[in-house]
Amino acid sequence: MSVFVMKDGVLHAEDVALSAVAARFGTPCYVYSLKALRDAYAAYRDALAGRDALVCYAVKANSNLAVLNVFARFGAGFDIVSGGELARVLKAGGDAGKIVFSGVGKTRDEMRAALAAGIHCFNLESAAELERLNEVAGALGKRAPIAFRVNPDVDPKTHPYISTGLKTSKFGVPYAEALPLYRRARSLPHVEICGIGCHIGSQLLDPAPAAEAAGKLLALVDALAAEGIALKHIDIGGGMGITYRDEQAPAAADYLAPTLKVLAGRKEHLLLEPGRSLVGNAGLLLTRVEFLKHGEEKNFAVVDAAMNDLARPALYDAWHDIRPVAPHDGAACIYDVVGPVCESGDFLGHGRELDLREGDLLAVMSAGAYGMAMSSNYNTRPRAAEVMIDGAQMHLVRRREALEDLFDTETALS
Ligand SMILES: *Cc1c(COP(=O)(O)O)cnc(C)c1O
Repeated sequence: MSVFVMKDGVLHAEDVALSAVAARFGTPCYVYSLKALRDAYAAYRDALAGRDALVCYAVKANSNLAVLNVFARFGAGFDIVSGGELARVLKAGGDAGKIVFSGVGKTRDEMRAALAAGIHCFNLESAAELERLNEVAGALGKRAPIAFRVNPDVDPKTHPYISTGLKTSKFGVPYAEALPLYRRARSLPHVEICGIGCHIGSQLLDPAPAAEAAGKLLALVDALAAEGIALKHIDIGGGMGITYRDEQAPAAADYLAPTLKVLAGRKEHLLLEPGRSLVGNAGLLLTRVEFLKHGEEKNFAVVDAAMNDLARPALYDAWHDIRPVAPHDGAACIYDVVGPVCESGDFLGHGRELDLREGDLLAVMSAGAYGMAMSSNYNTRPRAAEVMIDGAQMHLVRRREALEDLFDTETALS
């Protein structure tokens, strides 16, 4: 059941009216529900009950310290893709021993920081990265725990920008090169082979490709075992989709069932890296209508949030539901809901049927994942505030940027 519901004619997050959030913290503002985070995590925990499994939340989906801290308290691990995300997880109280480090371009500095922290595993994505990590770990007198992210070449049937497991992808190592890479790793003194992983894409609605990928990983695990290379864990990545509009998004248990069936009876520890499905529908972007422009061909609702706050519509043509916080009962009109940024691609939604007045509040739904995390200061716009709702309480978990914050790191020529 959604935590964002109408009560007394006003859209609420749990027990708090969104109008009260706007009055206290202003707009644009991201609003998250603690209960929705808890419920999303519980769905994974329940689906994995009785198995030796660790949910490593993919930090890039929403890296606010409060969100990370919530998952850390639930006992989650973390999937990171940069030294910055490592620092955030540690700052938020995450357990370094439950961190996996993904990404195609880890720098020496990032490797050193992760080794010093004592992370669970490096997910390596190339032969060159293996050599670099061996060298960096050797210089520190350490052995780096490693897994290869293998590209199982299955088609996840999602948007090409978020499809990552095909042969043509920059991610992962080709399936055919996996065995030689593990052999090479075995010969290196400063790495310790721990596991294998994959991540085939994002916003996946069909569970079959994930199960197919898991099967392909198992074939490699068995081939490696035959050569005396024993793996301790299998990491099946993230990618489970959510409902933005009318997608039939699976429940975690249903999405995972075919994969767990493929993995039944295996002794390897299971890792998962969900991002969007843990936070996407736990958040919304609250924005206010600045102006209504009624034109000959089109009507525009110009709001105070823009593509710099929520890039997904501009970037992927993503559809987000846009709901009035306090609906009127007059006649609706068709609006393009757009921001003030100087780009034609700056929109939050096209062709929405809404009855609007200047000053109205709108909630852009399903914005908890890849929302704030992808925001920028384009057009020298301060980044939005973020608020976490817990029952009837509001917690400011990131203050709105001040104008001085925006050029604090810059210097004019003297
Ligand atoms: C982005 C990413 C994830 C999370 O993907 P979601 O679709 O948000 O679940 C997991 N693992 C890796 C390696 C990623 O790059």
